[in-house]
Amino acid sequence: MKIIAGNWKMNGTRSGLSEMQTALAGVNTENRVILCVPFTFIDGTTGPAAIGAQDVSEHDHGAFTGQVSATMLAEAGAKYVIVGHSERRMYNGDTNEIVRHKAEMALSAGITPIICVGETAEERDAGKTLEIIESGVRESVPMGNGDVIVAYEPRWAIGAGITPSNDDIATAHKMIADILESMGRGDTPILYGASVKGANAAEIMSIPHVDGVLVGGASLKSDDFIPIITAIK
Ligand code: PEP
Repeated sequence: MKIIAGNWKMNGTRSGLSEMQTALAGVNTENRVILCVPFTFIDGTTGPAAIGAQDVSEHDHGAFTGQVSATMLAEAGAKYVIVGHSERRMYNGDTNEIVRHKAEMALSAGITPIICVGETAEERDAGKTLEIIESGVRESVPMGNGDVIVAYEPRWAIGAGITPSNDDIATAHKMIADILESMGRGDTPILYGASVKGANAAEIMSIPHVDGVLVGGASLKSDDFIPIITAIK
């Protein structure tokens, strides 16, 4: 079984989510499907895809205008939440430490965090890819109990239509698996994300230690998303 997670970012509509759920009902797959959607689409949504959010507050409650707590997300029905996505790190200053706090809040509310790590183009060009991934995992993933998912997302490849080589993905995922093992989290699924589509999903998911994919643009339309879900049955 693989995990296929979609990240709708700030796109879509509530009715579009209902249409996607209806389309997914006809899909023959044993893979776990998750859709991380804008906050306002979460409430009461049901269907074959489990629903997740795309961010959560690092605080429990209080004077944090515009933020949404993990407890609120859980009450609305979210089962997952993406934390540390490249765009949050880039536009909102989310550091590894903040990401870990967010993941801890999610866990305390019974929500599985999907913790993103990955290098920028500058970090890749400076030869720092593995160093950034390592510190990302060690500093963003909470110690202790509770299921988490880690997503390796090379930031330069997100939305760019390009992916690292299979060897580079394999190297990154093996290192992440080893670090998670050393943290007592050896069972953690590790997703690959960035420019996944129907045409490359099967090949990427056949790389060792790739337990599924995190999909941005190609998760918005069922015609693009379903071929990824059925790429490996
Ligand atoms: C993402 O933003 O998490 C992502 C993987 O985007 P895309 O698939 O569009 O590259």
